[in-house]
Amino acid sequence: MLENSESKRLRIRAHHLFCIQGFQGYGYSLAFVANMRAVIADLEASPSRPLELVSECDAICVSCPSKRECSAQESVLSRTIRHMDLLVLDKLEMEEGSVIGANEAFRLINENLNNASDIEDVCGNCKWRQKCLWYMQREK
Ligand code: SF4
Repeated sequence: MLENSESKRLRIRAHHLFCIQGFQGYGYSLAFVANMRAVIADLEASPSRPLELVSECDAICVSCPSKRECSAQESVLSRTIRHMDLLVLDKLEMEEGSVIGANEAFRLINENLNNASDIEDVCGNCKWRQKCLWYMQREK
């Protein structure tokens, strides 16, 4: 369950800064969707909440049915998703573990990575591309 506190740091995978903005109710399970909605509602209620940008399981992954496989450091899934996070961090010239207000994080994403090339780099293999507003609104 998401802890609702405006000042409490929330761990977010870097590539989830894209996914949060593309979410329109689809997901891996009902629990995953409910948790995703809760994370988004929390950030809407506390737009400056500090985010710790990570490349591992985060506040969204906790309700994912693939969490165990994704948490296994050497699994293909784990490496693939971690690569997406590291790409976003690299493109933002930020270190893993950086802490930044959510509104500032989204501003940086939207000003610097809001183009089809960067999005294709990060989202190219995602199975949700045709359900994701972030991707669909920017694909070539
Ligand atoms: S296409 Fe996939 S990885 Fe990219 S923002 Fe959408 S849900 Fe996230």
